[in-house]
Amino acid sequence: MRRFAAWLLLGMSMPAAAQQDLASAEIRTEQVAPGVAALFGPGGNIGLSYGEDGNVLIDDQFAPLAPKILAAVKAVDPDPVRFLINTHWHGDHTGANPAMGEAGAVIVAHDNVRKRLSTDAVSQMMKSTTKATPKSGLPVMTFAQGVTLHLNGDDLQVVHVPNAHTDGDAMIYWTRANVLQTGDVFFNKATFPFIDRESGGSIDGMIAASARALDIAGPATRIIPGHGPLAAREDLRAYHAMLVDVRAKVAAGIRAGRTKAQVVASRPTAAYEGKIATNGFITPARFVETIYDELKPKLQPARKR
Ligand SMILES: [Zn+2]
Repeated sequence: MRRFAAWLLLGMSMPAAAQQDLASAEIRTEQVAPGVAALFGPGGNIGLSYGEDGNVLIDDQFAPLAPKILAAVKAVDPDPVRFLINTHWHGDHTGANPAMGEAGAVIVAHDNVRKRLSTDAVSQMMKSTTKATPKSGLPVMTFAQGVTLHLNGDDLQVVHVPNAHTDGDAMIYWTRANVLQTGDVFFNKATFPFIDRESGGSIDGMIAASARALDIAGPATRIIPGHGPLAAREDLRAYHAMLVDVRAKVAAGIRAGRTKAQVVASRPTAAYEGKIATNGFITPARFVETIYDELKPKLQPARKR
């Protein structure tokens, strides 16, 4: 759905026509493991834990999709949504929060997700403002490091990873079903990574977060990425290696005294452009520029003696 691309990853305020398009979008359900499903649509991927103790939803796309998301959940398990966990604050992952809160879900997220959702958010990069979320859509239970939910015969570990995609990222690991939902610290081939520096994100945090995900995941772990299809540890490993490699190439360019335009022109992402979509919201150039902007003040060009 390329026409959503401009605000796909932030869920910024959108024109009425786009709202209409969203309302007509479909939600597709995929079974991931016993008691775990994934819901796919135009926004961020959704995880669902279901069973004898009730439904736990992880992320909820856009407000206009709330009825379809609830219908998709109901088709898996007729119980209401008992808990909603947000992996981060972006609107393509939290848009339906008010609808879920009004339907009785207890919303759980990192402290900074509640902070960012509580006020209007201005993005210079997107030249757009996201309105504050109404009270019904705000997390009522927040955590600094993590929290574990014990239900549906499983333990869902919610793990905070600092300053990666944003400053409020959480990953969810089903220890029994062996499923890991990463949020936007991992895109599976959908587009180059989005580092939202205006929300506290950083390339070094993305590298650390994907390393943490690699620590958690084993060879048989099924991974629900923030965007893109279900993944395996091998996909995550390739993604992590790509982050490390592109960062090193940009850092080398900065140390050699190259300008941002020169570093972009050197195409540090060239080796990955066939494997990761280049026509999304985050182009290879934008990804490289973001890394350059972060590293430039930290790295001085090598002095000639
Ligand atoms: Zn995001």
